[in-house]
Amino acid sequence: MSDTIKYLLPETEIPKDWYNIIADLPEPPPPVLHPGTHEPVGPDDLAPLFPMSLIMQEVSGERYLEIPEPVRDIYKQWRPSPMFRARRLEKALDTPAKIYYKYEGVSPAGSHKPNTAVPQAFYNAEAGIKKITTETGAGQWGSSMAFAGAFFDIEVQVYMVKVSYQQKPYRRALMESFGASCYASPSDRTQTGRAILEQDPDSPGSLGIAISEAVEVAAQNDDTKYALGSVLNHVLLHQTVIGQEAIKQMEMAGDYPDIVIGCAGGGSNFAGIAFPFLGEQLRGGKSIRAIAVEPAACPSMTRGQYAYDFGDTGNLTPLTKMHTLGSSFVPPGFHAGGLRYHGMSPLVSHAKELGLLEAVAYHQTPCFEAAVTFARSEGIIPAPETSHAVKGAIEEALRCKREGKAETILFNLSGHGHFDMAAYTEYFSGKLEDKNYDEQKLSDALSRLPQVAAS
Ligand SMILES: *Cc1c(COP(=O)(O)O)cnc(C)c1O
Repeated sequence: MSDTIKYLLPETEIPKDWYNIIADLPEPPPPVLHPGTHEPVGPDDLAPLFPMSLIMQEVSGERYLEIPEPVRDIYKQWRPSPMFRARRLEKALDTPAKIYYKYEGVSPAGSHKPNTAVPQAFYNAEAGIKKITTETGAGQWGSSMAFAGAFFDIEVQVYMVKVSYQQKPYRRALMESFGASCYASPSDRTQTGRAILEQDPDSPGSLGIAISEAVEVAAQNDDTKYALGSVLNHVLLHQTVIGQEAIKQMEMAGDYPDIVIGCAGGGSNFAGIAFPFLGEQLRGGKSIRAIAVEPAACPSMTRGQYAYDFGDTGNLTPLTKMHTLGSSFVPPGFHAGGLRYHGMSPLVSHAKELGLLEAVAYHQTPCFEAAVTFARSEGIIPAPETSHAVKGAIEEALRCKREGKAETILFNLSGHGHFDMAAYTEYFSGKLEDKNYDEQKLSDALSRLPQVAAS
């Protein structure tokens, strides 16, 4: 047993419930506010966009929410996902640290995102919805939603950030293979898109813009709802299958993490792995360091403000309190498209304010370097987003080496990079640059944050 590489659970060990950290937090997160009145929104305010079952999950304070049987049946396609001990990486780094990773790239779409796409499609189908609109950055979420839509006979329309649409034709082909349609955003299909194209016909697009387009279409059509791939409480909730399985797998390994690491775009895969461990800590269990790793070019937690802001560029969504760079902030084009969001999940932001987690930021070149070190030891090519978590884990392992400490590190390998090889090609050509955001544009975006009176 002592040199086990892979910790596998049987299908019967797929979690029966999602875990809701709100039940264990010392304070509830701040309320979501109506963009016009600045009063807390009620479930009905969200009803044009989401089916009521997901809204109830969004506002739930229950510790555990049951996973419907049809969802667990589809989860069986790739769950429980494996947890690996990175023995060759440990050796390559010559570290006394023990490194484990949970591998979510085994899902059909290649990332953790189907964990929430499937229940979102299920609840929409249950409510009689026939069409879902959504946005996608790098294409991971769009392909996950497309995959889930196919299982429940739902037509999926994806607004894909224009730079990624151009850079990643195979992600688009994947969505189309699952039966979805995919449009470059900003598009001329919506008011928001047309307004942006008028100002800047060459706009590369952003997640904030694509969200506005998808929300606009859903809000205007009764048979259409909207799905978000990260950020919201119900999305983080669905992702907790990752950490719950990892707790059992660490038990199989006879170990427990000192450090849990995830990359953070909107915060869902990080929360998915970290929240179940933080829950144990909050209920009196062992303490961990939870580390969220974000891109230095879009550093919402390390450089943003904790403030009420819109979730989208067109300012159509409710206001949530979160770490934000401002909804008008457009980050420079870097390869981890899934980490280019201006805000951070309100729940992850709240947990950070409570001191439950740390955030660090790295530029893309050192992240690709870490990803290549990882690939050469472990044989898996991380997605550019995931490379941030790999970098975070390697940094901690090297610290352990300097300090002579045999700490246990667990990180989430959120997805594989098989559709992102152009980014690796650029890295190998030596032409990859570390893009900095423009300080002036950041302070402009922050100065435009909505003014919400302190409650
Ligand atoms: C979308 C994505 C992310 C970032 O989203 P989170 O909500 O922060 O998890 C990270 N890794 C991969 C592989 C992704 O597809």
